[in-house]
Amino acid sequence: MRVYFDYNATTPLAPQVAEAVATASQDLFGNASSVHYFGQQAKAALDDARSAVATLIHGDSSEVVLTSGGTEADNFAIRGVAEAADVSGRKHLVASAIEHEAVLNTLRALARRGWRTTLVPVDQSGIVSPDRVREALADDTAIVSVMHANNEIGTIQPIAALSAIAHERGALMHTDAVQSAGKIPVDVRELGVDLLSLSAHKFNGPKGAGALWIKRGTRLQPILTGGKHERNRRAGTENVPAVVGMGVAARLALGKMAGEGARVGALRNRLEEGILRTVPGTAVNGARPSRVPNTTNISFDRVEAESLLIALDLEGIAVSTGSACSSGTLEPSHVLKAMGLAAHRTQNSLRFSLGMFSTEEEVDRVVEVLPRLVEKLRGLTRKTATA
Ligand code: PLP
Repeated sequence: MRVYFDYNATTPLAPQVAEAVATASQDLFGNASSVHYFGQQAKAALDDARSAVATLIHGDSSEVVLTSGGTEADNFAIRGVAEAADVSGRKHLVASAIEHEAVLNTLRALARRGWRTTLVPVDQSGIVSPDRVREALADDTAIVSVMHANNEIGTIQPIAALSAIAHERGALMHTDAVQSAGKIPVDVRELGVDLLSLSAHKFNGPKGAGALWIKRGTRLQPILTGGKHERNRRAGTENVPAVVGMGVAARLALGKMAGEGARVGALRNRLEEGILRTVPGTAVNGARPSRVPNTTNISFDRVEAESLLIALDLEGIAVSTGSACSSGTLEPSHVLKAMGLAAHRTQNSLRFSLGMFSTEEEVDRVVEVLPRLVEKLRGLTRKTATA
C-alpha cells in the first residue's frame, strides 16, 4: 500500500479535472486573443474558469487575473503594489515571518532594491498577532502580506482583523490563500483584503495555473509586460487547458467543501491522536483549534525528521518535513524557528497533509508503522551517542 500524505506540497488531479484538461488540450487549441472561432472558444473557456475561481472566493470575475500559480500571484501582488506605490513615497513592506518563500524572497529582492521591509514575528501558536502587525506599520507602508493558512502547520490567520489594521494606515492588504482556497471557505469581502493569491494544484487542479484576485480599483503595476492579455494586467498567451482544469477543480472544491472538510478533518484527527497515543515524545506544533482540516505538524523527540521521512518513504508513506533541504545542508523550518521552538524541535518535525483520496486504512497504516520506525531511529541515536 502506498500512502500519499503530502497534499500541501501538491495534490493529485481529480478525475473530472484530468478529463477536462485532456479534452481542452485537444479541442481548445486556439489562442484566446484571436478573433476567429477557435480563439473565441478558448476565450469562452477561460472566462468560464475565471468565473468558477471568482465564485470560489466570492469575488467578481473581472477582478480575477490568471497566473502561472501561487508564486507568480504572490510576486505580482507584492511587486505590483510596491512599484505602483513607489511614486507616492510608500517604500515600506510588511509580511509575517511564517510566509511562504514566494513572499519572503520577494520581500528580500525588493529590500535589495531600496524598499524597507519588516517581518512580523509569531509566538508558539503559529498565529500572527494583530497587535504585532499594528506595531510594524509605518506611515509609508505600502502593503501588508499575511497568508490565510500556513503551509507547514496549517494555522489560519486573523486576516479580517489584519486588513482593518492595514487600511487604518492607508496600506493595502494581501493574503496568500494558496493553502486555504478550496479547503475552507474563502470570502474576499469578509476577509477585507485587496489582493488574494491562489493556486490550482493545491485543490486537485493542474500545476502551473493560479490566480490573483485584485479588488476593483486597486493600483498595481504589471510584472509581466508584453501583449494586452488579462486586461493589460498580465501578458502572455494563457495556458487554456490548465486554466480549464482550475475552473473544474474550483467548482468541485466548492461543491464538496463542507463534506470533504469534515471527512478529511476526522481523518487528520484520527492520525494525530493515533500518533500522540502510540509514539511517546510527540507533540503537535501550532494552535490545534485554528487550523485547516487537512494538516498536522508533529515533533518526534530525539529523531531527525529527515531520517524518519526516508524511513517512512521506504515503507511507501510520503510525508514532508516542510523545510527546505538545499545544497546538502538541512535547513531547519523557518516557520517552526519563527514560532520560537527549541532548535532540536525545528529539526524533528514532520508535516502530514491529507486530501481527496486519503482513507482511514491509510491513516491506520501510518499509525501502525510509525512507533516501530521511531523506536528504531531512537535506538540508532542512542548507539551513536554511546559509541
Ligand atoms: N504560497 C504557499 C502558502 C504555498 O504553500 C505555495 C506552494 O507550496 C505557494 C505559495 C507557491 O504556489 P505555486 O506552487 O503554485 O507556485
